[in-house]
Amino acid sequence: MNNVLLLNADWSPMQVLSWERATGLVLDEKVSVVADYARQIRSPSFVMPWPAVVTLKRYVRIKLSVGMTRRNVLARDRFTCQYCSMRPCTARGRPLLELLTIDHVVPRSRAVQGRVVLPWTGMRVGVGAWENLVASCIRCNQRKGARTPRQAGMPLARYPTTPSYTMMIAIALAEFRIPKEWRPFIPEETWRRL
Ligand SMILES: [Zn+2]
Repeated sequence: MNNVLLLNADWSPMQVLSWERATGLVLDEKVSVVADYARQIRSPSFVMPWPAVVTLKRYVRIKLSVGMTRRNVLARDRFTCQYCSMRPCTARGRPLLELLTIDHVVPRSRAVQGRVVLPWTGMRVGVGAWENLVASCIRCNQRKGARTPRQAGMPLARYPTTPSYTMMIAIALAEFRIPKEWRPFIPEETWRRL
């Protein structure tokens, strides 16, 4: 709570800032406040509305991107096993990351010079590329072993892809509770599913 969503000058989402960092940018006139929480920040020298969403005054050529980490692959797949659709979570609905693994769809043992051919597109990609990794529960991963989905008779819920821009936003925001003040500025599917 009280985090601030930073938008580029074209209002595309960029990242989440702490309120301290965002307030500094407001005071330095680097950003404009476009939405605030219904409360104030009070210090001995100023009182200001608590910013919820700010935009950069000058466009920066930095595209939002997310690194290819285990967590981000799981987030792309909505923390759901891509073979059996199980989504391990706590009673409060938080995903249990430790019950999920990353499966190499085309197994590493089939890689030639670190690359594999994806049977569904014919594309040759790195064995550890977004397009060859999926979230899998431990049981499915063990059952599949060093086989392709076809060999194992375990079809994928969907073929893995490099995240789209909308997916990148969703992944970048996956660990945050999305306050209602942010919702007009991010794609609906980003927060509806959280
Ligand atoms: Zn599974």
